[in-house]
Amino acid sequence: MPKASAASASASRSVGGYRRTARRGADLAAAGIVPEERIAEIEKVAARYAMALTPAVLDLIEPVDPADPIARQYVPSARELESSPGESIDPIGDESHSPVKGVVHRYPDRVLLTPILHCPVYCRFCFRRERVGGDVATLTEAELSAALDYVRQHEQIWEVIVTGGDPLMLPPERLRKIVRALDEISHVAVIRFHSRVPVSDPQRVSTKLVAALQAKKAVWAAIHCNHPRELAPAAEAACRRLADAGIPLLGQTVLLKGINDDVAVMESLLRAMVRNRIKPYYLHHLDLAPGTGHFRTGITEGRAIMRRLRGRVSGLCQPSYVLDIPGGYGKVPIGPDYLRDDGTVEDWQGACHPYPPRG
Ligand code: SF4
Repeated sequence: MPKASAASASASRSVGGYRRTARRGADLAAAGIVPEERIAEIEKVAARYAMALTPAVLDLIEPVDPADPIARQYVPSARELESSPGESIDPIGDESHSPVKGVVHRYPDRVLLTPILHCPVYCRFCFRRERVGGDVATLTEAELSAALDYVRQHEQIWEVIVTGGDPLMLPPERLRKIVRALDEISHVAVIRFHSRVPVSDPQRVSTKLVAALQAKKAVWAAIHCNHPRELAPAAEAACRRLADAGIPLLGQTVLLKGINDDVAVMESLLRAMVRNRIKPYYLHHLDLAPGTGHFRTGITEGRAIMRRLRGRVSGLCQPSYVLDIPGGYGKVPIGPDYLRDDGTVEDWQGACHPYPPRG
């Protein structure tokens, strides 16, 4: 059962005496996160899918708990090498909707811009796990310029979602260039960044980085966070720096078995988000990326959590529970639905009432 408590941060951890990112099984053993017997298993998985745990994340892990919800998100497991039915290397059809390198154009009025495929950490359930963390993972100047040209040439593009990988891994100077270029495109009204950096590498959210995100246009940031313990004090401070700079924050959460598929944990996470001025936006049903079956819940369980949240937290704390349709057909809300075919509507306690009222 995942813990719902706030961060019970352990002592500051080091890898070989240094505060550095763990990128190998031996690093995790040196930091006291896994026993030495697991090094070979971790190396085998990390040779297939990138691995990284920042010092901030290492500090959050409780190594004595074999089901620690932070460790499970980032420490490789042999189960990632097992495939489940329906899994695909491109589960949401990014490739088939990419007109130029670094752009995904799925809906008419918005595009994804992916200038970098590096991340501060590598989530074991990532839907882009086949693409992130490789050797060549940043757009060249020419590729970025072609991607921006595509946005310029398509006047229907109202919103640009800068994602990755993690765009906040870019140096502030390069981020500033991208923001300025988008700011100058008259038909683009909204620039949205998607990032894991504020929770997994909060020190990176520096004054310089926040300044690089400033624009005349509306700039939003969606923060990926799956467990209340991830919103530790340093992460809260990073979110505060963004919010204080006038950047509205959204929360993105992936529903993960054994990590947050528990209503008390989810409630605690959503309340922590709203307390930190992060509006819960999406609760994602886990995409069908290879080797992620051990993280997947059923949609019935996801809906049951959403239904129970309805009576426990205010509308401000409610995300939309969504599924990205495999193949790139887009994202849709998947309930629960309160309006019934028999002409009744269900309240938060499960009682049904005719609508419109009879008599
Ligand atoms: S930070 Fe995002 S893109 Fe990077 S590994 Fe995690 S889920 Fe994937």
